[in-house]
Amino acid sequence: MNIEKFQESMYQLIVETSTNLPKDVRRAIKAAAERENAGTRSAMSLATITNNIKMADDNVSPICQDTGLPTFKIKTPVGANQIEMKKAIKNAIALATKDGKLRPNSVDSLTGDNSGDNLGDGTPVIKFEQWEKDYIDARLILKGGGCENKNIQYSLPAELEGLGRAGRDLDGIRKCILHSVYQAQGQGCSAGFIGVGIGGDRSSGYDLAKEQLFRSVDDVNPNEDLHELETYILKNANELGIGTMGFGGETTLLGCKIGVMNRIPASFFVSVAYNCWAYRRLGVAVHPETGEIQEWMYQEGEKIDFAQPVAAKEIAAAVEAPAEPEVITLTAPISEEQIRQLKVGDVVKITGMMYTGRDAIHKYLSDHDSPVDLNGQVIYHCGPVMLKDDEGNWHVKAAGPTTSIREEPYQGDIMKKFGIRAVIGKGGMGAKTLAALQEHGGVYLNAIGGAAQYYADCIKSVEGVDLMNFGIPEAMWHLKVEGFTAVVTMDSHGNSLHRDVEKSSLEKLAQFADRVYK
Ligand code: SF4
Repeated sequence: MNIEKFQESMYQLIVETSTNLPKDVRRAIKAAAERENAGTRSAMSLATITNNIKMADDNVSPICQDTGLPTFKIKTPVGANQIEMKKAIKNAIALATKDGKLRPNSVDSLTGDNSGDNLGDGTPVIKFEQWEKDYIDARLILKGGGCENKNIQYSLPAELEGLGRAGRDLDGIRKCILHSVYQAQGQGCSAGFIGVGIGGDRSSGYDLAKEQLFRSVDDVNPNEDLHELETYILKNANELGIGTMGFGGETTLLGCKIGVMNRIPASFFVSVAYNCWAYRRLGVAVHPETGEIQEWMYQEGEKIDFAQPVAAKEIAAAVEAPAEPEVITLTAPISEEQIRQLKVGDVVKITGMMYTGRDAIHKYLSDHDSPVDLNGQVIYHCGPVMLKDDEGNWHVKAAGPTTSIREEPYQGDIMKKFGIRAVIGKGGMGAKTLAALQEHGGVYLNAIGGAAQYYADCIKSVEGVDLMNFGIPEAMWHLKVEGFTAVVTMDSHGNSLHRDVEKSSLEKLAQFADRVYK
């Protein structure tokens, strides 16, 4: 095989997967956007998401800054040299990372050191299989951490919150799947897609669940029972009212695919792989001699182009329309008095400075001084994709919010210690942070998960960086922003939209407990 050409083909596959959402996924998102009631925060979120997809197309930049754990599934004809192919894929991954198409995401689990090129033990994941056909089938999924962390596995029989007993039958499986959507809330960047694996052992069950994410959104399950269950779940999960980003609304789930395999009599696992709206998976058929791409997969049918890219200020203007919530402008340093005036549901537009901080920064700040004065400032839970130009200046290539709940053990204490007034992230935070917001005078702002291009456009300059020893995603970036729009979802009066949506969705979930299925 022409291995150089194969490497080039794999590079193309990586870049397309990271920057260009497949046609079947676009159609599902468009249908959701049309269903969502105009004027709601979910509708606004979906509008931001669709704009972001278009911006990623135009900029050939990552749709979401979390480009996940690259996972390849490759079928090869007998005789293909898998060792050479593996090397070529790794080279293509390193090059795509260098070019800012992937975020450096491979971290030593014990030391936290980032390898910088996405290569390391276990990364990327490459799974080979031989087959009788005469071409190479190479598929790639980039599944980020926010949604990966919402995967869940049930061992039946089980007692499920809101639903009671789930037995070893289709009804029990139905309950597990509904519960999996409930427990994800908006934290996996809903509206999402789920792959479900019934049977196997703990590891093969999860593999089967992930395998379902390689199916086309539009396909029809050949197993009649599973087809019916997929249709049932898609319809009824959307009645839970979790909505886009967990803001409440009509669309929570965009797709459900279920597979089944045998199990041993003692075990009965239902495994669920949750994927965010940024459902980045593509595939190519490659010629085994020339290494060239012969065909792209998941690209049949109409391509939804979405709206023309909208600048940040135009999105803010759209939510300023009379029927929409008032937009409040914040510029750091922010006073306690300003913060105490904000309430859940307000839309804010930030102009001025903000500082990124993720897991490593929060841990660091809990027992060190801050490298900058954070009094009255805004912390952004974000691990951006950054590129340095030849003059040594940094540029933001993608910068959406990361899942905030990971910082729950630290957030409240850090806000009080340094006088931080606002934190921005996604998915909401818990009771400890809510109490600190009330005591200290702070707010939690929910940005739109995955809207990495939209937010990168709001960042006008990179003013500095601290703690680069933690690696690019974990460093503290000093960002100057303009018109950075987010929604107050936790305020200083003890209110939390996340807590309210979780409570109401649990009540709705409970209504499915005794519904007769089949
Ligand atoms: S859209 Fe959300 S869950 Fe998906 S990769 Fe991006 S940040 Fe993670």
